[in-house]
Amino acid sequence: MRKKLAKKLKAKKEAIEIIPELLKKSKGSYKKGNKRLSKVQSKKIKYLSMKYKLKLPKDLKRQLCKNCGSILIPSVNCRVRLNKGRLISYCMECKKFTRMPLK
Ligand SMILES: [Zn+2]
Repeated sequence: MRKKLAKKLKAKKEAIEIIPELLKKSKGSYKKGNKRLSKVQSKKIKYLSMKYKLKLPKDLKRQLCKNCGSILIPSVNCRVRLNKGRLISYCMECKKFTRMPLK
């Protein structure tokens, strides 16, 4: 039983290390024009965070679309506006708004 728990913790640590790399890779592949690969990589971030119950930092969370899971790069595939103390980002992939309180 204890062995199983140690294995789980190890996998969690690996996931924490992998997430920033995945974000970089996803951005890179989007800029190269490979949108499909970029989406797979950015969706994996969400999958890992849900599987290992990781709380993603705010700045990382803002770079992912809540609706379609694609990576958001301002002025490339997303529009960012401020309104009434909220950050509103418009995803041009799925044409949905995401609102986040600023503080
Ligand atoms: Zn989207």
